[in-house]
Amino acid sequence: MGEKVRLSGKEKSELWFEGLVTLVLLLMLNFALFVLLKQMIATNPTLQDTIWSVKNVLTFGQNKAHLWSWRNVFVGAMIVLDLMVLYWRLIRRYRQMQMRHVIAELHYIADGHLDHRVRLAVNTDLQKVINSINALVDSTVNSMEEERKIEQSKDELITNVSHDIRTPLTSIIGYLGLIEDRQYRSTDELLKYTHTAYLKAKQMKVLVEDLFEYTKVRQTTTPLNTSTFNMVAMLEQLAASFELEGEKKGMVFVVSGSPDPLMMNADTEKLGRVFNNLIANALKYGKGGQHIYLNAEKVGSEVVVKVSNDGPQIPNDALNQLFDRFYRVEESRSQETGGTGLGLAIAQSIVTLHGGYIYAESSPALTSFVLHLPLKVGTTLTRTPQVPSNQAE
Ligand code: ATP
Ligand code: MG
Repeated sequence: MGEKVRLSGKEKSELWFEGLVTLVLLLMLNFALFVLLKQMIATNPTLQDTIWSVKNVLTFGQNKAHLWSWRNVFVGAMIVLDLMVLYWRLIRRYRQMQMRHVIAELHYIADGHLDHRVRLAVNTDLQKVINSINALVDSTVNSMEEERKIEQSKDELITNVSHDIRTPLTSIIGYLGLIEDRQYRSTDELLKYTHTAYLKAKQMKVLVEDLFEYTKVRQTTTPLNTSTFNMVAMLEQLAASFELEGEKKGMVFVVSGSPDPLMMNADTEKLGRVFNNLIANALKYGKGGQHIYLNAEKVGSEVVVKVSNDGPQIPNDALNQLFDRFYRVEESRSQETGGTGLGLAIAQSIVTLHGGYIYAESSPALTSFVLHLPLKVGTTLTRTPQVPSNQAE
């Protein structure tokens, strides 16, 4: 997969030189050994006898004895040995050069070229090191990227919060300024000003509380206070508590579930907050609709809960952004619905804390928020990709 280390001209001549020097040294050593051996054999009759008998054994007494003269054997052995030493020296030097190339590439990465990877094909051990280093660089780059995203989202959060706090604060200061300067004509007008300032201050409080809630549930270490309960009963209770508000808007609740009771394990207080927001949204944004459907079903080891309303359709391109903090569909911004756009972000964090996931589907007939929760907290569910209902049409 990697490319071979390409040696520079200088390195190639270094290798040639190394080979040549080694060869000369070896030949000198061979010659010295040859002279020494010759001397020893000439002056030692016992050694001559031994050589003679070894030769006889090796050639089975045939007349090829001259082939096995000690000189031939010596030269043969030396050629083999020399070649081995030469190969060992050259391969060692070549590996050193490979290492030098790898180190140069590492320096290049360390100098800030984090998108660069070592792509050299080298001997197995060094290859393992290179692979680990590449993996290390990958994970470092990933965590840096993650860090950058977190930093960026923090900046966005601060910008959004300051913007959302400044708007009501400006009107509070404006109205209080009018009162301070006695620029009101009657007690009624004074009361109107204080009332507006009061409403704006309350709006700010909701924002700050939502933010606090959001940052709290965003922390994955937030403990869940789990218990076993009947999800269908929970939905019925929620419907009952919103019934009056629904009646005012001409909406009725339809609760269904299977099996009933549907026993599961989760943090009821936190899930209650999720459903409160989903139902409040259905009431707030479901203008023109007449029904709010709450449905829970057990599917394998999951519980799928749907909160649907037959109000206006959410535009397709907004569906995935709904869960971004501070995101509000354009129409909701202009309306006086007074939300901060944190409700669904909080809902998503709570569902994630439970190991589940949430998404929205919207068609002209029905808008649904679908929660997938594990029957028991401790398992994490992954969403299988699917086409949103209004895309399928
Ligand atoms: P908050 O809940 O923080 O008070 P919010 O209701 O505006 O403010 P979310 O609950 O996060 O914020 O909802 C985000 C946006 O999603 C809403 O502003 C609205 O535009 C859209 N939305 C949510 N639920 C529905 C729904 N049932 N039908 C149509 N639009 C919806
Ligand atoms: Mg909301």
